Amino acid sequence: MGRVDQHLTPLSGWGANVRAGCVLREPENEAAVRACLDDAGTTLRGLGRSYGDAALNSGGTVLGMTRFDRYLAFDEQTGVLQCEAGVSLAHILRDFAPRGWFPRITPGTKFVTIGGCIANDVHGKAHHAQGSFSNCVDAFTVLLASGEVVAASRTENADLFWATFGGMGLLGVVLSATIRLSKIETTYFRQRAICVNDLESMLAALEEQDHSFPYSVATLDVFARGARLGKGVLALGEHATRAELPPELAAEPLRVSGPPRLNVPRELPTFALNRLSIRAINALVQRIQARGAPFAHYEPFVYPLDKLLNWNRGYGKNGFTQYQFVIPFADGLPRLRTLLSAILSSGELPFLNVLKCLGKASAGVLSFPQEGYTFAIDFPIRSGTAALLKRLDRLVLDAGGRVYLGKDSYLDAATFRAMYPSLDQWLETKAKYDPRGVFTSDLARRVGLVSPRTG
Ligand SMILES: Cc1cc2nc3c(=O)[nH]c(=O)nc-3n(C[C@H](O)[C@H](O)[C@H](O)COP(=O)(O)OP(=O)(O)OC[C@H]3O[C@@H](n4cnc5c(N)ncnc54)[C@H](O)[C@@H]3O)c2cc1C
Repeated sequence: MGRVDQHLTPLSGWGANVRAGCVLREPENEAAVRACLDDAGTTLRGLGRSYGDAALNSGGTVLGMTRFDRYLAFDEQTGVLQCEAGVSLAHILRDFAPRGWFPRITPGTKFVTIGGCIANDVHGKAHHAQGSFSNCVDAFTVLLASGEVVAASRTENADLFWATFGGMGLLGVVLSATIRLSKIETTYFRQRAICVNDLESMLAALEEQDHSFPYSVATLDVFARGARLGKGVLALGEHATRAELPPELAAEPLRVSGPPRLNVPRELPTFALNRLSIRAINALVQRIQARGAPFAHYEPFVYPLDKLLNWNRGYGKNGFTQYQFVIPFADGLPRLRTLLSAILSSGELPFLNVLKCLGKASAGVLSFPQEGYTFAIDFPIRSGTAALLKRLDRLVLDAGGRVYLGKDSYLDAATFRAMYPSLDQWLETKAKYDPRGVFTSDLARRVGLVSPRTG
């Protein structure tokens, strides 16, 4: 059957700002993956939680990996789990949290696959203490473009191992992985909220509190300007022990909640998000964060947005983007001030946001996290959004920083190259393991991770 006859499934990233018709295949085993590989260009996809075009291949083949969802082995003594790459953190929590195990590294949503977490070398609220996802991965198996399956770890095919973290699914199909879970006594967090009045105090509070709390994240009031720029709430936490819990929670210390019951059934009209509604939600978010009961279940503490299924539809049919950058600590305060002022005075509608300190970078060749301040902010797509992001790219680059591909839909190839100096090293590994350029994506073509020719 020729490509023109094949049914195209409309797909998008979480931001729904780029949409593409793709030939979606959902293989269930290794032989089926091999059979589905399309030499003209194949893109891998997990749960589609990347915001932009990382898991899109306009007009081409996309392999949805969520049927690779089997556990292969678990060591109850060490917490080492071997599983297929389509297993999600939501499933791991459902099945292992009641037994006292928690994902060692987790992003702000549990609806992500292990393959997606590896491809973006994801980070979470605990990055300053625990690093990025690669820190909990011992090894994985990869099906290469040749059809061969190879193992990769710190000691075996180490070049492939480290290029795969942050490698955006462009070296091969991760079939299975061996990851480490962390032992927990309870599924609750001991938490604390600190209200801070300006950016300088916020950065000082982050630095001070990060020594005491493994989980930390600040949310800024997007309506605070001038001397109040950077005003917000710093949320801190750590896994609660059994002895700490009040009796009503101690009765079921490893409680796990069921699937979310609230849903946004369809895209809201674009006018629903305006300065007034954003002001109201911003104030509500600040109030909820500041309230901070002493203990919180992991759901509201780590995954507050997962409560509402399909919340991305709230941004309407044009979708939204999240701009996330990291800049080094040196000169961080004035640089952040400039960036925040540019964002907040832009006339765009900056919305939900997080600010935190990232710790040491991993050895992932294209991994995003590096030591410094990271800030992520959502923008509903409007006519001026792309131009604003271009201005921000220049400021981030000037500050020695970079933008996160897992959230991005706009970065151009020259800017990406300037932000990621290890790109040539990564391209050498790509040429070694995928010489015909079989693995590609809309994002890869846009930022120069593959040449435009290769699919
Ligand atoms: C509400 C929300 C909060 C988030 N918070 C954070 C956060 O705190 N920190 C953070 O780092 N990220 C965060 N993210 C982004 C998210 O963690 C990443 O984009 C993650 O990679 C998504 O995983 P996925 O399974 O949905 O993969 P997809 O988005 O479907 O794909 C992501 C990448 O993985 C590749 N891939 C997928 N499966 C495989 C496989 N089997 N083998 C090889 N490559 C594969 C794809 O080709 C693509 O390049 C958040 C996203 C949302 C929606």
